[in-house]
Amino acid sequence: MLSSGPISREQACYLMRATDDELPQLLLAAREARERFKPRVITYSRKVFIPLTNLCRDYCGYCIFRRDPGDSGAHTMTPDEVLAIARAGEKLGCTEALFSLGDKPELAFPEMRDVLHRLGYNSMLQYLEAMCELVLRETSLLPHPNPGLLSAAWINRLAAVSPSMGLMLESTSESLLQPGKAHDNAPDKVPAKRLRTIEEAGKQGVPFTTGLLIGIGETLEDRIDALLAIREMHRRYGHIQEVIVQNFRVKPEIPMHDWPEPSRGEMLRCVAVARLLMPDVNIQAPPNLSAPYYVELLDAGINDWGGVSPLTPDFINPEKPWPHLEELKLRTEAKGYSLRQRLPVYPEFVNRAMAEPGLLSQKLKAAADAEGYARVTAQ
Ligand code: SF4
Repeated sequence: MLSSGPISREQACYLMRATDDELPQLLLAAREARERFKPRVITYSRKVFIPLTNLCRDYCGYCIFRRDPGDSGAHTMTPDEVLAIARAGEKLGCTEALFSLGDKPELAFPEMRDVLHRLGYNSMLQYLEAMCELVLRETSLLPHPNPGLLSAAWINRLAAVSPSMGLMLESTSESLLQPGKAHDNAPDKVPAKRLRTIEEAGKQGVPFTTGLLIGIGETLEDRIDALLAIREMHRRYGHIQEVIVQNFRVKPEIPMHDWPEPSRGEMLRCVAVARLLMPDVNIQAPPNLSAPYYVELLDAGINDWGGVSPLTPDFINPEKPWPHLEELKLRTEAKGYSLRQRLPVYPEFVNRAMAEPGLLSQKLKAAADAEGYARVTAQ
């Protein structure tokens, strides 16, 4: 049915609409591609989630995380709170500190600027940099920041305190910016700006995580075009360490509360097409967003479960707890794979992240085993 090389846009468009009868063949092709890439191993990153601030200047229609100043639950973490979570995670064998935060809240809110000034910083990115450095210095965890759009200068600064970083492309569809759509009133979700950040990371050789958010109003062709844009970035710079295929989940509190969720079939087709478009790139899908059917994602060609926390909830989808790690291991092994703990930076990118001597390089050497996986094994 398919050759072993990456598929074309035309093939992807056809496969994204595979009938139920054709689906098993599509999944088989995706699994075979995954086996050629990384046979019999599925990875995950044992992490703590550090929501540094939930204030954000954007208003994405699907977001339950963001707050305005004064909203119930609005919070910016103190350095002590950051360190307490990181240390608790360290005791549970975590190796990743995932920093998630709203995009440039200080540009929109004077209250945020006041909080930052009290903490001793002029911008959220300065504070993030300091907190990454704190976690790196004081614990064995490796930071993975996810702060939204970044300039070349900020990518350079954050790369000194984190071996990898991330920005979800989400979609390349400009139509989502229109009034009433998912990215109406979300200036940081302009696709060209997000591609610029991803490209800049590539120019600087920073291992980068990105991906799609599916089911937010984009077409099937839009999903393919977003995957192709990521593939092109990777072709040019070779820095895409992971592509996440994340499915929209509805929640009563969000503006898109009556929006339909993508079906299981859509998710399987999108994951399989992502694998066939990028046979040699790590493809991830979060298990908690497909529970209780998440093992089916293995059938569609993923090779990674992403960050899974034994400690902190998924603050982006708090109603969907991560599966217990023991259950994840058993269900992965029941499918015939071994589950291995990786670092926030993937094994094949560890050497690149260690290129500069210094604290980051020392910590990374201590955290990685000879193959580049996490030295700490899951307990
Ligand atoms: S998804 Fe991110 S950028 Fe959008 S509103 Fe939520 S925190 Fe802000």
